[in-house]
Amino acid sequence: MNKLFKYANSIWVRYSDYVITETSDGIKYLQPAPNAVPKPYDPVEEFENIALDAVSVGQLCMSQEATDSEKQEAIRGFALKYGLLGIMTAIPTTPKFLPYENVFFPKNHFIREESMTVEKYMDEFFPFKKLNIRKKGSEYSWDIEGGKEVVLLGMLRDGRPDEIHMTFQREYAERLDWMEEQFKDWAFNLMVVFFYYEDKDGLTEKQKDFHKQSMAAFDGLTPTYHIGLMDDRPYLVWNFNSLLQGIQLMVSMMLTDDSRPIRMCKNCGKAFIARRHRDKFCSKSCSEEWKEKTDS
Ligand SMILES: [Zn+2]
Repeated sequence: MNKLFKYANSIWVRYSDYVITETSDGIKYLQPAPNAVPKPYDPVEEFENIALDAVSVGQLCMSQEATDSEKQEAIRGFALKYGLLGIMTAIPTTPKFLPYENVFFPKNHFIREESMTVEKYMDEFFPFKKLNIRKKGSEYSWDIEGGKEVVLLGMLRDGRPDEIHMTFQREYAERLDWMEEQFKDWAFNLMVVFFYYEDKDGLTEKQKDFHKQSMAAFDGLTPTYHIGLMDDRPYLVWNFNSLLQGIQLMVSMMLTDDSRPIRMCKNCGKAFIARRHRDKFCSKSCSEEWKEKTDS
């Protein structure tokens, strides 16, 4: 799978600290802390860990036993390792929405409207401090403010739209309930796979169809790609327009991977990377524990 992602426009940014802030109408956001330092990294190099952590955070968010603050802390912990998800550029029909008057959305978990004005949409992600963007018709200009590292981030010229670099700015924030919804979605897919193959023989056709349909809903927000002509041969070049889309693709690929698929432990329920397709337990001790439980 590493080979598949050999070429990708995937650089992402994580800050050294994140804080939870609340709007006057009580919506909780996650955003970089005032003095946090931004650090670019390449998610493709850590894709197995990211996918595993993403479904694990999702499992925790689904858990009845976890408290709200435990869930928020898990999401914050994820951001500390990998940055925010980039929801702003993940859900519109195009990540390059600034030249237009309106932003359009395919079906998604977060926004019900089919479209909204660019200004209103940006307010969802910059609820506390706006970026200095002047927009007139299809023309816009963006004056980057802030410390020199932040200015540098905005000027990273990697061919991706400006909107993506805006999500790297200190002012950019993501709603915690939206992030939670997304993490749960990834965990849900892992669980459907688990229950489908675990109970396959005991399921009615109707139940099987239900499982299949819930997987089919796992679509939409995938990265785009183009064919790059490299020195010796053509290659797929992935354009990750958000970390969210990257994780979506990584989780999907790892659910279906032949050699190192992501699975859920039959004993403890933890997500793990299986060494073999049929591995059911995350560790030897879990397999032994399960044996003891079922023998007695
Ligand atoms: Zn286990």
